[in-house]
Amino acid sequence: MNLLIMGLPGAGKGTQAETIVETYGVQHISTGDMFRAAMKNETEMGKLAKSFIDKGELVPDDVTNGIVKERLAQDDIQASGFLLDGFPRTIEQAEALDAMLADLGIKLDAVVNIDVDPSILVERLSGRFICRTCGATYHKVFNPTKIEGTCDKCGGHDFYQREDDKPETVKNRLDINIKQGAPILEHYGKLGLVKDVDGQQDIDKVSAAIKAILG
Ligand code: ADP
Ligand code: AMP
Repeated sequence: MNLLIMGLPGAGKGTQAETIVETYGVQHISTGDMFRAAMKNETEMGKLAKSFIDKGELVPDDVTNGIVKERLAQDDIQASGFLLDGFPRTIEQAEALDAMLADLGIKLDAVVNIDVDPSILVERLSGRFICRTCGATYHKVFNPTKIEGTCDKCGGHDFYQREDDKPETVKNRLDINIKQGAPILEHYGKLGLVKDVDGQQDIDKVSAAIKAILG
């Protein structure tokens, strides 16, 4: 299965990606995770990405398209399928993705669009924390770990909050993503691929709605 997951920052893409990957065995490709790994390793690309991410801006299309193209060309993608999370984020990226998939002879099966009202997202993002060992995502109020300070998935004890989840940066991220996201949904809507899911239900209910759509 070859899938895109779309939604504003904080809509629940990463959270639902964990379940989708477990259920369907697809490869999770998150451009945000790839940039954070490059920033951590202080690569040239990571340093460049950081200069945009810290301001809540998008990393330029040529850089972002390049890392996705490289990842999609790897063997495991043909074998297992993929879930792209956080890409495409501009209509130019969507067009570039269409060309990459055509070159590889891959067809998209669905675009899962997690729909939420932007007004709830500052609270979601300011309470988000992530396991440094396995990348599992939690929320202080809405999705805490079962045992305080211990990751449910891997038992790790080291968590972090994202620098760009500060309210000052979040506003810019939301504005940019609202503006850039609409034409992308229109693009895939015309192809009949968009499956809307109500993202303001409990996490388990959102997962069940996605499963009902994907089968
Ligand atoms: P995204 O990947 O779209 O930016 P995340 O999956 O990281 O979003 O979710 C953002 C925050 O909201 C996280 O702290 C997560 O635990 C929480 N969250 C995700 N889905 C829900 C939901 N349906 N209801 C309440 N909180 C949620
Ligand atoms: P995310 O983890 O998806 O919320 O992404 C974190 C940040 O990485 C975004 O705010 C952007 O600065 C950058 N980023 C992630 N994906 C993309 C993309 N497809 N295009 C441009 N920038 C991106």
